[in-house]
Amino acid sequence: MRLDEDYLRELELWPMFALQQRAMARHEEPALVVQEVPILAELQVSSSMTAPIPVTKRPVLANAAPVAAVATILTDPERAARIAALDWAGLEAEAASCAACSLCKQRKQAVLGVGAKNAPWLLIGEGPGADEDQQGEPFVGPAGKLLDAMLTAIELKRGREVYIANVVKCRPPGNRTPTAEEAQACAPLLDRQIELIQPKLILALGKTAVVRLTQSEASMASLRGQLHSYTLQSRLIPVVATYHPAYLLRNPPDKVKAWEDLLLAKKTMSTLPHLSAA
Ligand code: URA
Repeated sequence: MRLDEDYLRELELWPMFALQQRAMARHEEPALVVQEVPILAELQVSSSMTAPIPVTKRPVLANAAPVAAVATILTDPERAARIAALDWAGLEAEAASCAACSLCKQRKQAVLGVGAKNAPWLLIGEGPGADEDQQGEPFVGPAGKLLDAMLTAIELKRGREVYIANVVKCRPPGNRTPTAEEAQACAPLLDRQIELIQPKLILALGKTAVVRLTQSEASMASLRGQLHSYTLQSRLIPVVATYHPAYLLRNPPDKVKAWEDLLLAKKTMSTLPHLSAA
């Protein structure tokens, strides 16, 4: 795999990618490498938010084997291959008729996603709640209002340069966290969505999305504030992890950290059209 070294050097990311590649060649976890990336001055953050953000790189594991043993349908290669060939209309129909896990039993409707289908920004949450199940659109409830405010803070707007999706497309009962099996059942749909959108950057909202995209079970506190990556064909898509808006509603002080994550995402987006690997 050849990486675009110039881009990575410009972002001061090259050493950690080089280390990652050596570690991957040896099939082992690379040592933690910390690079400091100054926040862009033009983003006008307050002085308390201008501390350099450590950027670390983990191995690219997005296409790794499932973390848990799952029922046959979840790992059915024919189903995965069929979904991987769908266009948008096919994907909508697939989600609407999907019965790969038990979440289909209580849904009013599957909620595939919303936004520009070639958006540079892809935001991935956990799963639809009651409002989303009712309206068929992600993040339309209270967490969605905060998410819209977060987007506005970095001069983005739902429906313009942003696509919003979830790890699972059907509402988990009582808004519980989706199980690993449910996330795995929905994985072909999300993977195909990402492939159709070809985003430049993914913002993972909360632990479920971060685990799904990075395969890391580490805490949110340790995963945020860094760049991760998701492998799409021969491209590495930068992934920024941040807290889920519903968590932020319950823990307002952590909005400061989410703001830092948004700045990291914004800076990454402005500096790096994409991370290429061939
Ligand atoms: N929480 C999510 O993770 N996704 C939604 O769409 C709504 C709430």
